[in-house]
Amino acid sequence: MTAPKGTFDILPPDSARFLAVRDTLTARLRRAGYGYIEAPAFENTEVFSRGVGESTDVVSKEMYTFTDRGGRSLTLRPELTAGLMRAFIEHRLYDGALPVKIWSVGSAFRYERPQAGRYRHFTQVDCEALGVDDPALDAEVVALGVQGFRDLGLTDFELLLTSLGDATCRPQYRELLVGYLTKLDLDEETRRRAEINPLRVLDDKRPEVQAQLDDAPLMVDHLSDSTKAHYDAVRQHLTDLGVTWTEAPRLVRGLDYYTKTTFEFVHHGLGAQSAIGGGGRYDGLSAALGGPDLSGIGYAVGVDRTLLAVQAEGLDIGTASAVQAFVVPLGAEAKRLAVRLVGQLREDGVAADTVYGDRGLKGAMKAADRSGATHVVIVGDRDLAEGVAQLKDMRTGEQTTVPIGDLFPTVRAAVGP
Ligand code: AMP
Repeated sequence: MTAPKGTFDILPPDSARFLAVRDTLTARLRRAGYGYIEAPAFENTEVFSRGVGESTDVVSKEMYTFTDRGGRSLTLRPELTAGLMRAFIEHRLYDGALPVKIWSVGSAFRYERPQAGRYRHFTQVDCEALGVDDPALDAEVVALGVQGFRDLGLTDFELLLTSLGDATCRPQYRELLVGYLTKLDLDEETRRRAEINPLRVLDDKRPEVQAQLDDAPLMVDHLSDSTKAHYDAVRQHLTDLGVTWTEAPRLVRGLDYYTKTTFEFVHHGLGAQSAIGGGGRYDGLSAALGGPDLSGIGYAVGVDRTLLAVQAEGLDIGTASAVQAFVVPLGAEAKRLAVRLVGQLREDGVAADTVYGDRGLKGAMKAADRSGATHVVIVGDRDLAEGVAQLKDMRTGEQTTVPIGDLFPTVRAAVGP
């Protein structure tokens, strides 16, 4: 049997890198005072059809939707934001102090055509700041994303930034763009897309479409005074926070509810699937899900793609040995001592291990070596008769004889904190 198409297992030792990437990306958020929400991996389907938008590819083509045994239509979450927003509304988190800052991490599911960096099951880190429309908050959220990547040691990534305007200027701009697009030579499907969401045509990657878009009107040139001031303030705060970006006036995001600040993180070592994260302000989302008319800003970062980026830059992450001390018993009496010593060490927070099964000295030493432990305790029955054991420092090869009574404190001290 094999894993379903578009999914994969992450096995040791690679899985240690996966965990390191996931935990590094979220450590920033925890330190910045964001609260964790554990939400279900599936929701009532309408959470996504209303919260992501019927016209998006994600909702119209990529959802894992099924009817459960009780006849309800449920969907495996294709992204985390809509479910977090549902929780925010259901539990009236907006009744407390605003903004409400939350984060989450977990599985997302999309029925996509699998390729390198694009899977049907993947993991996202999500960060959201809800209930206050303040450009400084936009800058905080964007900077937290950037910092997460920097914490991993990544350098070959870029922040793409733009403003998508809002209700005060987008409708007029949309009309202008539709007028421009109807004059172009576009195929039937693109024409239909232009009617539903003309902005998304700007993001079309095909050269024959791009060639016709050189003179297309851009949202950033048609921002109202208020959204322009908002965008200017976001950029000012980002500069103050030491964040650099590239203006990306054609950047469009998959969600229907994005307004004002919109951004994407791309990595240059990944080929076609270069987006490692993205987000923006979604001032209409809460209301669209039946909540109060509150604003929000957030991002989603793909852990799997960030791991690929870490590998592309050759960064040494999460590869530190898990085991610090390894105990090799030779003989039945020694075995009891080994099991006891490993138990004691573990209880005291030391990553310790021993051999299981009858391995002999050679096999046991090989296992000790493979474990990556810096310290190996070897207990033979003859040693035991003399009341001692051998402690070997694997980095220097130095071996010392330690009285059994001193074994635990000696090993404890040798492996360090
Ligand atoms: P999106 O919600 O589409 O903006 O996705 C946010 C981030 O999740 C992207 O920048 C990717 O890093 C990641 N991502 C989205 N879709 C996939 C996928 N099918 N496979 C792997 N990662 C994905």
